[in-house]
Amino acid sequence: MADIALTHATVVTMNPRREILLDGAVVIEGNKIVDVGKTSQVVPQYRVDLELDCAGKLVLPGFVDCHVHLAQALLRGCADDMSLIPWLRERVWPLQGTYTPREGKLSAQLCCLEMIKSGTTTFVESGLHSRYGFDGIAEVIESIGIRAALSKKLMNVSGYADQPDVIPPSMVEDGEATMRETLAMIRKWHGKANDRIHVWFGPRTPGACTVEFYREIAERAREHGTGVTIHLAEVKQDVEYMRKEFNMTPMQFMRHCGLVGRHVIYAHGVWLSDGDFRILRETGGTVCHCPASNLKLASGVAPVVKMLEAGVNVALGCDGGPSNNCYDMLREMKLAAVVHKGWLLDPQALPAESVLEMATINGARATLWGDRLGSLERGKLADVIVVNQRRPHLVPVRNPISNLVYAASGEDVETVIIDGKVVMQEREVNTIDEAEVIAEAQELGLEVDRRLGLNIGPRWPVI
Ligand SMILES: [Zn+2]
Repeated sequence: MADIALTHATVVTMNPRREILLDGAVVIEGNKIVDVGKTSQVVPQYRVDLELDCAGKLVLPGFVDCHVHLAQALLRGCADDMSLIPWLRERVWPLQGTYTPREGKLSAQLCCLEMIKSGTTTFVESGLHSRYGFDGIAEVIESIGIRAALSKKLMNVSGYADQPDVIPPSMVEDGEATMRETLAMIRKWHGKANDRIHVWFGPRTPGACTVEFYREIAERAREHGTGVTIHLAEVKQDVEYMRKEFNMTPMQFMRHCGLVGRHVIYAHGVWLSDGDFRILRETGGTVCHCPASNLKLASGVAPVVKMLEAGVNVALGCDGGPSNNCYDMLREMKLAAVVHKGWLLDPQALPAESVLEMATINGARATLWGDRLGSLERGKLADVIVVNQRRPHLVPVRNPISNLVYAASGEDVETVIIDGKVVMQEREVNTIDEAEVIAEAQELGLEVDRRLGLNIGPRWPVI
């Protein structure tokens, strides 16, 4: 018996040998993959409830987006052409500072919908403020069917790097309260929804937490066996602050605070250096590369090729609605695959295959689901996507990985299975009313601007 069989597909397994199967099949029972092989050999062994004929299609593991801000989906397009600190101070923080759990929930629905529709099956949320309503957001994850590590934001100083009191009062949280709430959320949600929901610690960037507080976070995360994610060395000021204040590089500072290990994801890492890479390799942490966000905010280009050469695990992330401005991992993959070539004047830098690894197996390794995700192999969790190759921009197929990374977009993802459940089929998400979310997001998104008296619109005359 088996629940689902995807048959006659080109299966990109991402297994240790990186095998690609022609006329392949993936068989799913419950929430696990029970078989992967040639259709003619595998399928006759099972009585299957649902067979999805995937002729002309690619079947591959769902993407793992390691840096997502759920609450920023509703802020899409609110702060174009600005650099990080004014972008935060003038737009993102004040707007998020007006949120109630209603906006928190709607933004999470919008964001998850977009992620599912572009093939992301697992993501790491980088830090939720209490005002967004953690319970409402966790309920969205539970009902929409995606897999998520939700981090609660922690802070005990209202600064960013060397700029004190830069965080507006509406976004400032109390250190003890953030710790208490994180622990409560771990008790309530960690491992829930058949282990699709994990709760992580999301301390703010250096400047917003004391060393003692970082150490407490590190200790608690180990005690509860959960992960930590932090923005690190996103902009030059971050590195200058750590050098001036502590005479350390970013990763020396993280080690000083105990925030190192396989369970830690450092978002961005644009300004990390060789010494930092050594600490990363030794401690096994992951850097999440967010090329669209780093380019749009003019933060720089992360030295990803050097990191990979140094043996650092590098994953990929879309970041947020005002910095990217979308949550489409396929578009992010193309950008990652081309930006380093141009920057380094080296066409061999970061081939499509390396980028697909970043978006699947490397991302999976950074999560607590680790070796149960990121590839299509017997015994792994059934997070599987189907991409239609029979489209004008995806033929002829010579190397399917090349077409996927350089020519596809999220719109080409046709079917999404998460934890063994068909969440999207033929582009129809069957766990939420898509039209309703879109209508509500259009309305409430602009209402958030109005609360602050902002009128953000076209720069050209509207007649
Ligand atoms: Zn971020």
